[in-house]
Amino acid sequence: MASSASRFLAGGTTLIDLMKLHVEQPRKVIDISRLPLSDIHELPGGSVRVGAMVRNSDMAHHDLIRSRYPVLSQAILAGASAQIRNMATTGGNLLQRTRCSYFRDSAMPCNKREPGSGCGALDGINRIHAVLGTSEHCIATHASDMCVALAALDAVVYLSGPDGGRRVRITDFHVEPGDHPERETVMQPGELIIAVDLPPLPFAVRSAYVKVRDRASYAFALASAAVALDLRDGTIRDARVALGGVATKPWRAREAERLLIGHPCSKATFRAAADAALAGAIPRRHNAFKVELAKRTIVRALTRVGAQA
Ligand code: SF4
Repeated sequence: MASSASRFLAGGTTLIDLMKLHVEQPRKVIDISRLPLSDIHELPGGSVRVGAMVRNSDMAHHDLIRSRYPVLSQAILAGASAQIRNMATTGGNLLQRTRCSYFRDSAMPCNKREPGSGCGALDGINRIHAVLGTSEHCIATHASDMCVALAALDAVVYLSGPDGGRRVRITDFHVEPGDHPERETVMQPGELIIAVDLPPLPFAVRSAYVKVRDRASYAFALASAAVALDLRDGTIRDARVALGGVATKPWRAREAERLLIGHPCSKATFRAAADAALAGAIPRRHNAFKVELAKRTIVRALTRVGAQA
């Protein structure tokens, strides 16, 4: 992310909205939309590299993504609207801000927007807020669908900055709010996202994204699950589970994965994994329903993938 005085502008689907609301007020906006980062190609070794400027719709419909990582294609197509997906970029999606209404209303207290001002959601209307990865300073959910699939796929974010390039695992890229909700990623001032690399994961051909929301389209997740299963002879040999809509960052459910591996592909196994995924949930006044909803979303996603055998 550029320094606090400046912002990079790619698709503009988050930044321009927030500038209109006076939530973002950069002194400089640097247009990066013509950088040559709009390619998707295979790397030696079998990874797939997605340029930071690749539009969400182009990624979702690309043959390499659809055939090797269906969970990612499905997650992108579950997000926003066709018009927004045509503008939004891969890098921008990684950096999209929360939909917490207190964050987007500059008249309300919000530690993320204005550190130390308080959190309007903690004692306010918190139906859409997170139950995992929260702190006493912020309970905002991460809004992305794409990033949930990237977390399940162990994607790697490629950054370039004043000190050179570096690679960050997607599960380390976003950070929980802790005492500093204003800090959302490990990016340093002046760094720019160049690409996202998708490691080879043959069993991801058997994967799915399930999203539950208040209406059938153009709505953010109340709960979502990205899953992939490596099944042999009815037994789960490997598994990936990541959650959206319920956590402060794209949430990899490793305990659920551990409970799946080595067990039969059955409803009982899926439910045990779902229970484990939400074991650390801290519900608030209006969002306790998300705990059971997320469990059922995980079970539905696993059932869908299990049926692909
Ligand atoms: Fe701000 Fe986070 Fe509280 Fe929302 S939940 S008001 S983003 S501090």
